[in-house]
Amino acid sequence: MASTKEAQKDAYDLILDAIDTGLYGPGDRLVESELAERFGMSRTPIREALQRLETQSMLTRTGRSLIVASLDHGQLADLYIVRAELEGLAARLAAQHATPEEVRVLHAMVDHDLGLVNDPRLLARANRRFHKQLHLASHNRYLIDQLELVHRSMALLATTSLAADGRGVQALEEHRGIVTAIEKGAGDAAAEALKKHLSFAFETRLKLDAGEVEANR
Ligand SMILES: [Zn+2]
Repeated sequence: MASTKEAQKDAYDLILDAIDTGLYGPGDRLVESELAERFGMSRTPIREALQRLETQSMLTRTGRSLIVASLDHGQLADLYIVRAELEGLAARLAAQHATPEEVRVLHAMVDHDLGLVNDPRLLARANRRFHKQLHLASHNRYLIDQLELVHRSMALLATTSLAADGRGVQALEEHRGIVTAIEKGAGDAAAEALKKHLSFAFETRLKLDAGEVEANR
């Protein structure tokens, strides 16, 4: 029984990763036999993982096919509201609880990511790593778990706001400001900087979707 459970967890994580890294995007069809072959697994754990992802609304059914779900405008706005409050809280707690080592890691991430500004795909991945590291610095297990769920839903966005021309450099400057506030132990400023960062990201995404700014791919 235990081995089946393990295999199921693996298939679930592998499929989530594939969505998260953009291998499968919103609207793409997921076929049990193809996934089984790709991951070198039998079809049973794949089927169970697909069912689980469907109940979590990560996948939707059209006819007999399962496709990767996409977020409509209202869902996107709702997600950003929750994300801003939860991440603002994470930044506030990080300002109280982050160790000097954690602060140095966050600074080093910003330094490193400056080298990626011309590659929106890599930058989007680096951005997720930065935010995840910031969640961990909050040292609050329940908050970290909730933010994991929010970020999983973010994987259902087909584009990254970091693909907008000039947004990469600006976003990294905002990351720097957030880390500096955390370093100073300034909880209010850290939370405020983080909420502003997400507000700019959301605004950029809306402009991208409206075709008002150029995507740099
Ligand atoms: Zn960011």
